[in-house]
Amino acid sequence: MSDLVRRTAAELADLLRSGQTSSVEVTQAHLDRIAAVDGAVHAFLDVAAESALATAADVDARRAAGDELPELAGVPIAVKDIVVTKGQVTTAASKILEGWVPPYDATVVERLRSAGMPILGKTNLDEFAMGSSTEHSAYGPTRNPWDLDRIPGGSGGGSAAALAAFEAPVAIGTDTGGSIRQPAAVTGTVGVKPTYGGVSRYGLIALASSLDQAGPVSRTVLDSALLHEVIGGHDPRDSTSLPEPATGFVQAAREGDVSGLKVGIVKELGGEGYQPGVRRSFEAAVALLERAGAEVVEVSCPSFDYALAAYYLILPAEASSNLAKFDGMRFGLRVEPCEGPVTAERVMSATRGAGFGDEVKRRIILGTHALSAGYYDAYYGSAQKVRTLIQRDFAAAFQQADVLVSPTAPTTAFRFGEKLDDPMAMYLNDVATIPANLAGIPGLSLPSGLSDDGLPVGFQVLAPARADVRLYQVGGVLERLLNEEQGGPVLGRAPELEEAHR
Ligand code: GLN
Repeated sequence: MSDLVRRTAAELADLLRSGQTSSVEVTQAHLDRIAAVDGAVHAFLDVAAESALATAADVDARRAAGDELPELAGVPIAVKDIVVTKGQVTTAASKILEGWVPPYDATVVERLRSAGMPILGKTNLDEFAMGSSTEHSAYGPTRNPWDLDRIPGGSGGGSAAALAAFEAPVAIGTDTGGSIRQPAAVTGTVGVKPTYGGVSRYGLIALASSLDQAGPVSRTVLDSALLHEVIGGHDPRDSTSLPEPATGFVQAAREGDVSGLKVGIVKELGGEGYQPGVRRSFEAAVALLERAGAEVVEVSCPSFDYALAAYYLILPAEASSNLAKFDGMRFGLRVEPCEGPVTAERVMSATRGAGFGDEVKRRIILGTHALSAGYYDAYYGSAQKVRTLIQRDFAAAFQQADVLVSPTAPTTAFRFGEKLDDPMAMYLNDVATIPANLAGIPGLSLPSGLSDDGLPVGFQVLAPARADVRLYQVGGVLERLLNEEQGGPVLGRAPELEEAHR
């Protein structure tokens, strides 16, 4: 394996700037690594070698000509396949979009391109980002590089696994209920869900529009900060986009300090249902923050007990409306009924029957039911009230603490099939991540160490809306302390993947 694939994005940017390597060399090293290990990992649905190398060559030429280039120019990246890429197949891991080539770029992708970042390919996910294990992908699951018999988390298992397997230095994810943070937790990587509106949603295939948020995935806190500054900031094409620019993250990651900072442990996000090894790792990390001068307090958010129930009404309701556009007329798959008249309704029914997987169908049915006359107030209306209570709990907690912390996920990576037939068990993976989406606040997950089973544990930091800078401040400090304490990054302890003979 080339040493280049072990480097962080920040290190690669330095090597590129000082002329010690070229973007073509770095990009090729990652493409070689993908060729060697992705047969086993299956992080990618599509690899775009040719266009990635063309971008790399262009950046190298501009650098040779003495052009002033953006910070991450020449550093390759992977993009979750729910973010549209012009001229490059985008499927959301669904059969209904098999072979669909978008006619435009998402704003996030546009910004990656203008930053000169070669796009290596599109990464796997649960179909339409519905899931916590990537087992709901219509194109087969992604495997966790720590143990190929285990899930890489979801829905963004592909992006997280690509980083953990050193197939890409950074990636883009989307987080509607935890799909950036939970995969980061179970793969020993870093993921950030920005404040709602902090990164443009234009060009994300919508799951639940009031919850969806794109964000950075990386192996270090600094790399997420660098990438967040590239993709964040106002976008006039997204009506919920915040006006402010995305700045201060890199500085906070580099120079953050926690002395005097109030850190709140959320009582409801821990305890029962959390694996003992996860709890131990979490508590050890909190103790490190305390030693670095943080003041640790306990806060209570009683409405969080209803967050999961509210989320699984609001998300299906919004999803059922967003997914109505997949009707066999406008995008991707079109299936005509085997017999009888070819009416619009019958084409829709045949197309959706063949094109959507079980989990997607389950949520569309749930969502349309929750929105139907007669049930709307009881289900959707009540869920929206709970959402308000959760926002109030956060507001009260942030009166007592500058940031809140919890384990990111209740357990380490589980085995394939363990929760596939039990949707409730699958949904429980997101108990700790969902409240942030319901309130629109930002959250970061970083690895705090290994559990008793030798698998990575995620540590979650939450901040008030628009205070994403605090995530990097705390994340940067904690990562340094953990690396000192544990003798290097968590991912350094992952088993070597066997490279295929080529
Ligand atoms: N696992 C959650 C779900 O299934 C979160 C998904 C997401 O964040 N996209 O809805």
